[in-house]
Amino acid sequence: MTIKKRYDVAVVGGGPAGTASAYYAAKLGLKTILFEKHSYPRPKPCGGALSARIIPLLGKEAVKAINCEIEELRLFSPSFKCLSLKNVPGYTVRREEFDLAMAKDAREAGAIVMDNCRVKAIYQLPSGDYEIAAETATITAKYIIMAVGFPKNALIRSPFTREEFEEDYLAMTVLSETPVDNKIMAEVNFPPKVMAIFFGAVPNGYAWYFVKDGYVNIGVGATALLLKDVGAVNAYKQFVIDLKQKGFLPKDLELAKERAFPLPFKRTAEKSVFGNVLLVGDSAGFVSPVTGEGIYYAVKGGQLAAQAISENLKNGAPLSSYHDNWKKDFGNGLDKYGYFLREMLYKSKRRMELAVILGIHDMQMATLLKNLIFGVYGYQQIFWKALLRLPVTLIKTIF
Ligand SMILES: Cc1cc2nc3c(=O)[nH]c(=O)nc-3n(C[C@H](O)[C@H](O)[C@H](O)COP(=O)(O)OP(=O)(O)OC[C@H]3O[C@@H](n4cnc5c(N)ncnc54)[C@H](O)[C@@H]3O)c2cc1C
Repeated sequence: MTIKKRYDVAVVGGGPAGTASAYYAAKLGLKTILFEKHSYPRPKPCGGALSARIIPLLGKEAVKAINCEIEELRLFSPSFKCLSLKNVPGYTVRREEFDLAMAKDAREAGAIVMDNCRVKAIYQLPSGDYEIAAETATITAKYIIMAVGFPKNALIRSPFTREEFEEDYLAMTVLSETPVDNKIMAEVNFPPKVMAIFFGAVPNGYAWYFVKDGYVNIGVGATALLLKDVGAVNAYKQFVIDLKQKGFLPKDLELAKERAFPLPFKRTAEKSVFGNVLLVGDSAGFVSPVTGEGIYYAVKGGQLAAQAISENLKNGAPLSSYHDNWKKDFGNGLDKYGYFLREMLYKSKRRMELAVILGIHDMQMATLLKNLIFGVYGYQQIFWKALLRLPVTLIKTIF
């Protein structure tokens, strides 16, 4: 009989949720191993916008991997009215660079990082430990952190993946990221460090145009169900045509091939702890229903998961505290107020038009919109602040 190596924590998936979990678990002194099915650097379809609140949570390699600080946020209404905002609390990254850097931080903290090593199956042993059968290794662990991203892509035999995502709970996104000369972008007045959002460019959703240092990232996203009629790729192609026609994008710039990718959103997991298995990141639906932001929640969730495991191992504190803690930290805000704000904003083109017009007439409301997008306050706070401000904004808009 071969003795399999035993770890305190096995992390499955090496995106932001998995690498952050491994980073924090190793920092807390837990014997940690992470499995990632692709080799780093691996591509991941993503806008790569980060809200500034993530910075204190990151290791030093991840901070170094930031591509640029956003200098201007342009919010376009469905009729292309533009609200321009400065002092933006956000950054952009290129995911292949950022995720690789996160993996380096985890490794430097003491975790074993095994990339190019897909986990094929997970079993619970009579001892209560778990056996993790991966492509080039089989190990056992007391705890598992499942951070496989969109669960249906995980190709893993295990009772711990959340499969109940209905079409209505999914966003469909299509995007491309293309290398480009910064000077060319300045000529079309979309220089690097400008982040533009086009509300209503797709039915009940938005399109984005992020100009990074040396790259443009362009994409569309909306509820899968609503994009079905138009076709997500068609919506993306139309958006690119619109950008070129308006002179926002160099006409002869050939964009990299677009990729489509699903994103779970709208409701976080009702259950995120199964025995000693914890779900984190997209696997647990940690995605803003308003913006599609998931990286911050993935990293914060990873930190909370590692802390709960450490407390459980050291003091016997219940693992269920993990579920309560992320719910309290961001989950309730996402589910209750985030969902409501989403409905308010994206219900119709008229509402999206109004949101931008209100911002153009009232800088305080505009700042609230910016803070909503970059998570400066929780959604609950934003909701009440916006509601209280609305009468003044309406007066300013009408008169
Ligand atoms: C088009 C698009 C644009 C987005 N833009 C933004 C944005 O601008 N800002 C933002 O904050 N969020 C954005 N998001 C959301 C963000 O990308 C996700 O929320 C984030 O990546 C979640 O991190 P994760 O670690 O949970 O999952 P992922 O990043 O998907 O990582 C999961 C990892 O698990 C690995 N894996 C899966 N199965 C196995 C297995 N069996 N064995 C081993 N490894 C496995 C995968 O290879 C993958 O590397 C966007 C999403 C999409 C689709």
